[in-house]
Amino acid sequence: AAKEHGRCGYRLYDTFLDEKTSRTAYIERELRKALTEEDFELHYQPKVNLVTMEVVGYEALIRWRHETEGWISPGEFITIAEETDVIFGLGEWVLHQACRDMKQSQKQVAINISPRQFEDPMFLSKIKGIFRQYEIEPSFFEFEITESVMKDKERTQSIVQDLKNMGIHISIDDFGTGYSNLALLSDLNIDVLKIDRSFIQQSNEELVETVIRMGESMGCSIIAEGIETREQAMWLIKRGCSVGQGYWLGKPSPIAKNQTMNC
Ligand code: C2E
Ligand code: MG
Ligand code: MG
Ligand code: MG
Repeated sequence: AAKEHGRCGYRLYDTFLDEKTSRTAYIERELRKALTEEDFELHYQPKVNLVTMEVVGYEALIRWRHETEGWISPGEFITIAEETDVIFGLGEWVLHQACRDMKQSQKQVAINISPRQFEDPMFLSKIKGIFRQYEIEPSFFEFEITESVMKDKERTQSIVQDLKNMGIHISIDDFGTGYSNLALLSDLNIDVLKIDRSFIQQSNEELVETVIRMGESMGCSIIAEGIETREQAMWLIKRGCSVGQGYWLGKPSPIAKNQTMNC
């Protein structure tokens, strides 16, 4: 409600706002500043073949180090960016930075795309412009979207189709935690289902096996998130999931530390 009053509104209302709302307003202001000053970084977490341990790609994860607050987690600031229009500029910065980093990599890079970015009528033309600017082949990119985009069936169908026509791969992030329209999901020709880390961490056999079977029947591959132990990796291989991400395989780190990105 407060944000509808615009930026000046905050000043007037500040003293009346509760703690959470003023923290949100503060983060929003700081995010706008950080965007113009390019205070963000992209870190990369490897996606690994669990059988051969070969790195098959990377996921780009945004990092923000605030001058006085220190590291602020994307869990906090992405949510706030999504509640405002900050997500659009932030999403574009991520794509630009990934393209700059891509020059050093011959591996697939996955980018997290906020459902809000699908609302931007210029989304596709912006993406095309960025790829043209950096002369990057779109098939090097994978876009991670969440099940929440399924709510807007028509829009999602047309955007995903256009992205796929460009050659971009599409994955469903945190799969199993949200609402999925299964008919739509199979129509979309998704490339990858990412099993949410909560199911790995609970060793949720039934759910993991169901997702693996769904992937097989829809012709998409499966990747497991949040693998923290060797046992979890073995458990997944046994059930037919052979690609994963997680601290045991590699933590998100700056591009310079991902030596393998160069080969
Ligand atoms: P996500 O896309 O599901 O990313 C996976 C999150 O799990 C990352 O948290 C990653 O650091 C963390 N993670 C990876 N391996 C493990 C593990 O073994 N154990 C545990 N406990 N966690 C693990 P992070 O970087 O804090 O990002 C949180 C969420 O913020 C992401 O979830 C994604 O939804 C969002 N996000 C991050 N970067 C971006 C971005 O550039 N754009 C957008 N729109 N969203 C982003
Ligand atoms: Mg992701
Ligand atoms: Mg995820
Ligand atoms: Mg997750």
